[in-house]
Amino acid sequence: MTTATIETRASAPATLPKEKPERLPLGPLKTIHVFWMAGMSCDGCTITVAGATNPGIEGLLNGTVPAMPKVLLHHPVLSVEAGAEFMASFKKAHDGTLGDPYVVVFEGSVPDERIAARTGGYWSAMGSELMPGEAEGGETRMVPTAEWLSRLAPGAAAMIAIGTCATWGGIPSAEGNPTNAMSVMDFLGKDFRSAFGLPVINIPGCAPQGDNFTETVFAILLFLQGLGPLPAFDELGRPSWLYGETVHRGCTRAGYYEEGVFAKEYGDPECLVEIGCWGPVVNCNIVKRGAINHMGGCMEAGGVCIACTMPGFPDKFSPFYKAPPGGIISTTMSHGVGGVIRRLRRLSNRHASREHRWDVNNDVPSGWAHVPGSSMGLKVMELFYQKWQHWGARQPGRRKGEEAWLWGGTRPGQPSDYNDHSVSEGK
Ligand code: SF4
Ligand code: SF4
Repeated sequence: MTTATIETRASAPATLPKEKPERLPLGPLKTIHVFWMAGMSCDGCTITVAGATNPGIEGLLNGTVPAMPKVLLHHPVLSVEAGAEFMASFKKAHDGTLGDPYVVVFEGSVPDERIAARTGGYWSAMGSELMPGEAEGGETRMVPTAEWLSRLAPGAAAMIAIGTCATWGGIPSAEGNPTNAMSVMDFLGKDFRSAFGLPVINIPGCAPQGDNFTETVFAILLFLQGLGPLPAFDELGRPSWLYGETVHRGCTRAGYYEEGVFAKEYGDPECLVEIGCWGPVVNCNIVKRGAINHMGGCMEAGGVCIACTMPGFPDKFSPFYKAPPGGIISTTMSHGVGGVIRRLRRLSNRHASREHRWDVNNDVPSGWAHVPGSSMGLKVMELFYQKWQHWGARQPGRRKGEEAWLWGGTRPGQPSDYNDHSVSEGK
């Protein structure tokens, strides 16, 4: 499916009523409801948020985080209520009788329910209600989650799309899909604003890091409490402090790229770009932050970046086993320039790996192995390098003959009683 075929909220069926935004007062909140809904989803976002640690969701749910309201989570997987009891709060939020403000979180992409309705079915639904015109006990229908989204989003204090399916359509909207699935932003349209005047907030990733989500929710709640400014979001509604940099800039393998050393197969420790990594052009912070509890992350675990946070994912980055064409230019340059830099750095590294005394004595007193001294060519290079390094400044380090002072002798240029402490102590 191409973007040209995506149908937005403006062309959504008339059965999805346009809701009147409910205006809510700013100010300290005691309780806030979170309505979590899932469209075309694998529940991966739920799992990643359940594993968030910094901050974790337990404190929010227990109401033990200072300055934070108590969060009442209504989640189709995690809530203990089921059936009509579970759906009651959704209906209250829709009726305007909930009594507290709420946030909507949507996981998964939004399918085009008109396609399923042609055969009397649905793609994704939650709860049932009487068919129009039916009395109690009459015929019911399942309510598509797309319809719940349309009902609840305008009255929400904030509308958060979590995961790449909800933020950009993701895998369910890939080429060849039968559902005409789309993102929350595509579904609600450009003019959508929450009750507090915010467009859709997007936390992409397949699955995103749970901490990226909880940190953003904390920041939004601080704003809603009137205790902090509106967090910075970029032009696509991503938290800009989390998605402003490319993976490559924070990657632990980026030094290999710079020095022109590349992995040939999975399991190699070097840069993965020649076996399919898209990291240099992808906005994601996973190697800086870690996948969970500050550990892991794609390259840390040996995987290439397949660009799962990007709006063009997956179609613009497949097939995932091939190297990005654009990488050929930069890696060719890196092979050449990086090769020279790598060799020069190796020389500097050898120089820096020797004590000054070992240079003076031309001997490394290591019992672990024989460490060869510098060759004549290297010594000449080191001499010029040090002259350049200390040009206009006094060069530190000990000169030949100073070792005796260290063992109780006299440092050249110092009084002969320098090490006699009885003199300085006035004895
Ligand atoms: S593995 Fe990917 S993200 Fe890491 S340095 Fe190489 S290209 Fe960049
Ligand atoms: S590094 Fe790439 S594949 Fe891994 S989470 Fe980030 S965007 Fe997705």
